Amino acid sequence: MPGYVEGLLERIRELKRQRRAVILAHNYQLPEVQDVADFVGDSLELARKAMNVDADVIVFAGVSFMAEMVAALNPDKVVLHPDPTAGCPLADFATPQLVRRYKEKHPQAPVVLYVNSLTAAKALADYVVTSSSAARLISRIGAEEVLFGPDSNLADHVQRSTGVRVIPLPGHGHCPVHQYLIDEYHLMKALDEHPNAKVLVHPEAPREVRERADFIGSTSQMLRAVGEMDAEEFILGTEEGLAYRARRLYPNKRVYPLNPRAICIDMKKITPLKILRSLETLKPRVTLDPEVSRRVREVIERSLQLLG
Ligand code: SF4
Repeated sequence: MPGYVEGLLERIRELKRQRRAVILAHNYQLPEVQDVADFVGDSLELARKAMNVDADVIVFAGVSFMAEMVAALNPDKVVLHPDPTAGCPLADFATPQLVRRYKEKHPQAPVVLYVNSLTAAKALADYVVTSSSAARLISRIGAEEVLFGPDSNLADHVQRSTGVRVIPLPGHGHCPVHQYLIDEYHLMKALDEHPNAKVLVHPEAPREVRERADFIGSTSQMLRAVGEMDAEEFILGTEEGLAYRARRLYPNKRVYPLNPRAICIDMKKITPLKILRSLETLKPRVTLDPEVSRRVREVIERSLQLLG
């Protein structure tokens, strides 16, 4: 007799087959959601995966801006987001009104938005980047200065690694999980416990943490680094869910979250029960204004073209 969670997962697997559905889950999702997903990755990997899957329905386990990006890139598929209240406080920092105001004030500067931004704001941008592509794309634009938002830590990281003047949009945008829970105190505490571990951190972390890191990169780059670096122990400076994924991929390595309490509440709102309800009812469905959707596709295509 399966337990409650295993019973839910079994029903999800069955319904997935009946609906010709796939589940895409972000690296920060609950372990049981990662286990029932067909593909686990970062936001861009998931959006790209969505474009190539042979399915009628995509259930997106992540936060709203990611589900909306998948919907914008897949206008012919049914995209379900099991909890539409799962938003991203970082994305909320750059409203479309704010983007317009910055554009008026700095008309010469291209607008580059981090993928963690509102869909309506992305539609106003010149380029969209991930944490792994930000520095490369900004170097290739060839401009002396760019507007970049909403994450001010990533803006600082990009400015330091490219030499391009980055005007943060706004100056105080941050992810609360990385800003307050992946901080210097928790880093030093983790190093007390695991003094030989290599420290891998996400660029959304504050500068003092990045300066002490052995490696700075996106969640996918951090996962690759765990596999490639010649070390046994790793501290991952990002949302704690990534440590589960790293342990699954590399069972021979010892991986610790920098702070086991660094939890993104929004990411954890997606549960197997909500996924099951979504598959049963085909709701809540992600719908976008067709014009906004077209603009976002254009911005993403332009960005991918520049990246080559
Ligand atoms: S971890 Fe931070 S950036 Fe990522 S979804 Fe949560 S609040 Fe947003």
